[in-house]
Amino acid sequence: MDIPEVTQTLAFSQLMLEQVFDGVYILDTEGRITYWNKAAERITGYTADEVVGRRCRDEIVIHTNWEGCQMCQGDCPAHSTLGDGVIREAEVFLKHSLGHRVPVRLRVAPVYGPEGTILGVVEVFTENSTKMALLEQLAESERLALIDTLTGVGNRRYSDLTLAKCFDSFGRYGEPFGVLFIDIDHFKALNDQYGHKAGDAVLRLVARTLVNAVRSFDFVGRWGGDEFLILAPKTTLVSLENLAERSRKLVKSCKLAMDSGTISPLISIGAALVKPGDTVDLLVDTADARLLMAKRLGRDRVVGKN
Ligand code: GH3
Ligand code: MG
Repeated sequence: MDIPEVTQTLAFSQLMLEQVFDGVYILDTEGRITYWNKAAERITGYTADEVVGRRCRDEIVIHTNWEGCQMCQGDCPAHSTLGDGVIREAEVFLKHSLGHRVPVRLRVAPVYGPEGTILGVVEVFTENSTKMALLEQLAESERLALIDTLTGVGNRRYSDLTLAKCFDSFGRYGEPFGVLFIDIDHFKALNDQYGHKAGDAVLRLVARTLVNAVRSFDFVGRWGGDEFLILAPKTTLVSLENLAERSRKLVKSCKLAMDSGTISPLISIGAALVKPGDTVDLLVDTADARLLMAKRLGRDRVVGKN
């Protein structure tokens, strides 16, 4: 079959690219945009006039990855293909002219000149909304599976996982870590006097205060009921006891406003530093026994020794 002459012209190629549903753009070896089709305009909101002549790393066509990091700073598929001619596929986000992120699936291929040198790259992209929405949902449900919904700190499952991780680091590298078991004093009476909602507010307040008391790499979790756990890696018994004392005082200094006055919760803490031969159960038992001792000695205190 004869191919009509017109199909061989550049004009026809361009006409075809204008009709396709996928976004298409071409970059020269300097990373400058030389072509931007109609679908690219529809997907990103930027017209060819606004984009052609701009560099791909300009704010306008910036690609970001899943975490929102700009890919120009190292992991840019177009830049890599310009360098090695390898066809690449990626799932990224483009910035829409209205400001939001558009999830796209893209394919970058080299454009070769007659002598086999790379003249640029062509990038073809399609909207990827469903897949990204599913991934986002998955990430959110994974997050929810580890977070205590009432207080926003790690839940029991997350606490168990982190404890196991700390033990692993201790076994492998001998990195010492400490654990604090923290329990609100007379919480049941507080619930009875002010109601369950006020009790929930106290749990949130204690959790937030503990999070603010620890170092950035310490872990705060809700062990269950009115009991919290802090895991402090790279610590000594003295630092651990200092952290426990600071937490106790900070919680005590809080004032939760109620109609009938204020609540300043009190907490008791059992502290234990991991030692050779410990297991998760042994360490938890030690910290728990010390917490019980703190309760027996009159509450509102820290116990770090037997
Ligand atoms: P102690 O000083 O010995 O710790 O006394 P306590 O009253 O704090 O001890 P106990 O463990 O008997 O009480 C814990 C209470 O916490 C009992 C339970 O009703 C309450 N509680 C557990 N989970 C929640 C919750 O999510 N919200 C509220 N408001 N209360 C809770
Ligand atoms: Mg209690």
